[in-house]
Amino acid sequence: MRIDVLTLFPEMFEGPLSESIIKQAREKGLLKIALTNIRDFAKDRHRTADDCQYGGGSGMVMKPEPIFEALENVLAPPSADTVAGGPTPEPIEAGTTSEAVVVLLSARGRLLDHALAAELSREPRLVLVCGRYKGVDERVASLATHEVSIGDYVLTGGELAAMVLIDAVVRFVPGVLGDIESAETDSFFEGILGPPSYTRPEEYRGMSVPDVLVSGHHEMIRRWRRKEALKATRERRPELLERVRLSDEDEELLAEIDVEENTI
Ligand code: SAH
Repeated sequence: MRIDVLTLFPEMFEGPLSESIIKQAREKGLLKIALTNIRDFAKDRHRTADDCQYGGGSGMVMKPEPIFEALENVLAPPSADTVAGGPTPEPIEAGTTSEAVVVLLSARGRLLDHALAAELSREPRLVLVCGRYKGVDERVASLATHEVSIGDYVLTGGELAAMVLIDAVVRFVPGVLGDIESAETDSFFEGILGPPSYTRPEEYRGMSVPDVLVSGHHEMIRRWRRKEALKATRERRPELLERVRLSDEDEELLAEIDVEENTI
């Protein structure tokens, strides 16, 4: 998978994308990340990438031209690693960004969740556009195939949101996670929260690991984990339970939880 990021602050990406699992994915060739500084496509002497808002009001808005041109540059065939100063790419028309999935990070976008991360992970190529200040000129949205928000709060820029998206998406790319980190036992994989995890020591500051986990009884452990996952989901995120298809065993486990909690 190749991910291009268009940003005014490419250096912000250095740390998070150069450690641990993402670093290994890049080294294994499963992931290629190319950063483009939008400012390189600002034409004037001061390399201006933002301007005042039409209609007045505080806050600067990112100008459309440098973003359109940066995007044209990364999408230009043969895209390879062309940067500012390379061959002049064809202008792209609004709404026709060829095959590439272009994601505009925006507080006004669709909320990022497990399903969207999994969907995006199946794309061979993503281009992420990071806003700053008051946001990007709305005409940039016409180039995007997706507008994505990472939560109902406002960040100072799209960079951290882009890194969150990259991290969540890359976990789904085959080969990125080893068996040990397997996504299949994590929260949301089956639409509910995951169970709690423990490691050594078995007893710490008076708190013990649940007996079943040290019993060596695989079937009991599987059942216990499922039950704890259902219990946590019902307590913390009851709305998730309403959206999943529960098996007969799940219903049984929920009934057991009811009895234990004395709620019936
Ligand atoms: N005026 C905008 C906020 C701009 S914040 C509004 O009212 O929605 C500046 C930039 O930060 C945005 O362009 C976007 O790229 C990024 N950003 C802010 N909050 C975000 C969020 N929750 N998810 C994704 N990106 C976000």
